[in-house]
Amino acid sequence: MVQFRAKRVLRSLLLGLVCFLLISSAVKSQDKPVLTVAVEPVFPPFEFKAPNGDFQGFDVDLIRAVGQAGGFGVTFQSIPFDGIIPALQAGTADAAVAAMTITQARSQAVAFSQPYFKAGLAIAVRDGTTGITKLDDLKGKAIAVQIGTTGAKTASAVAGAKIRTFDAAVLALQELKNGNVDAVVNDSPVTLYAIKTGNLQGIRIVGQLLTEEFYGIPLPLNSPNLQRVNEGLKTILQNGTYAQIYQKWFNAQPPQLPESAFGTAQTAQQTPTLGSVSVILNALPTLLKGALITLQLAAVSVFFGLIGGSLIGIARLSTLTPVRWAARAYIDFFRGTPLLVQIFMIYFGFPALLQAVGLNFTFNRFAAAIVALSFNSAAYIAEIVRAGIQSIEVGQSEAAQSLGLDSVQTLRHVIFPQALRRMLPPLGNEFITLLKDTSLVAVIGFEELFREGQLIVAENYRPFELYASVALVYLALTLLSSQGFSYLERVMNPVKRSSSRTQRGSL
Ligand code: GLN
Repeated sequence: MVQFRAKRVLRSLLLGLVCFLLISSAVKSQDKPVLTVAVEPVFPPFEFKAPNGDFQGFDVDLIRAVGQAGGFGVTFQSIPFDGIIPALQAGTADAAVAAMTITQARSQAVAFSQPYFKAGLAIAVRDGTTGITKLDDLKGKAIAVQIGTTGAKTASAVAGAKIRTFDAAVLALQELKNGNVDAVVNDSPVTLYAIKTGNLQGIRIVGQLLTEEFYGIPLPLNSPNLQRVNEGLKTILQNGTYAQIYQKWFNAQPPQLPESAFGTAQTAQQTPTLGSVSVILNALPTLLKGALITLQLAAVSVFFGLIGGSLIGIARLSTLTPVRWAARAYIDFFRGTPLLVQIFMIYFGFPALLQAVGLNFTFNRFAAAIVALSFNSAAYIAEIVRAGIQSIEVGQSEAAQSLGLDSVQTLRHVIFPQALRRMLPPLGNEFITLLKDTSLVAVIGFEELFREGQLIVAENYRPFELYASVALVYLALTLLSSQGFSYLERVMNPVKRSSSRTQRGSL
């Protein structure tokens, strides 16, 4: 009887579940689609974050209105600008609003909506700079730009210009403010907004606009949503919503927009796509040049890191308490905070702080990278040195001292040579970690291996081939280094050395 009732309950439960699933799927299918829209939220006034963490800006309002008119919802996903096209290609985002200029090259990789904003590039300089008003004046000058942007492309065409690429336009502008470059080439509305809001003092725009550009909403090629987006855009352009949003952010009447960004030629011209092997072969020389810089960075940083780390490691073992504590504090700070934050602090924060107190200080990028990497690795190396020294039995120093050696001699002739051998494997690990960590200095515009790869992707939109090649070059570097350290271990091992000598002797 009980069994029978249990069966009935189970059956009605199952039936209920099936009904629920059917009804909810029916409701879902009637629901409007929700597009995942990529944004780069550090490009005010187009897209940025409100203090409460919400996305805001002209583009954000625009896509919401387009969605309402075109019959789709939106959820935002924050992605760096140079990652947006790869994300669309990979299908991780359905569309993007990123103040993205419609260009021929980009139109090969993504499908653009009709133009929704008229903009142009402008040159920004520090107050008091003279002699720069047009692109030609930038010949031989240092220019900061955002990676993968039309500003970067325009600046790179200037003869002899030294281009510094940053992940975000704000960083390029900060670089100008800090006095490390002569100019920034960036979208005029963005630079103007930064100046107007007072976030960027001492900077001004000079001369005429360099270009006339139109922003579009990029979607994956052949996206079924393109029509919805275009219809939504058309509706809000006609019903006054667009003008309202424009008024809100720019306090002006919107200009007339063309149907297509390419004038009378309605669509972008297609050029044949290169095969993967050609893409890799074309990129290889640049990547190898970057690899050389990576090696240089790692070698110089590990050299200073070794000196600093040895001193701090020995200080950790000092009998003087303040010395021990200072060494401990250093290690805790540099091990306990992310290297990326340290790089930003040293390169952007430190000069800004000194300038705020009236000192005219700028940091050379190589120096800043070396300082950040060596300070960081010194903290790790200090612990390796301390552990290495402590691993040598007390009897050894007792014996040395009974032979009449003082403490420095004991350390130098007895403890250190043995400790060094024990330190080698962890030092090898540290070197490999450092080699990989050099990729982080790409954020200060340093063109090492990873950045070279990123720059090529920003041009050709072939992330898979490029990042796979970059990974392989890093792998080759780390494998070579670990071979080098194994060799050192073998050479420094007296047991193996003497056994190979006896072997040779017996032959
Ligand atoms: N409009 C510029 C471009 O498309 C910059 C866009 C951006 O940085 N978000 O290249």
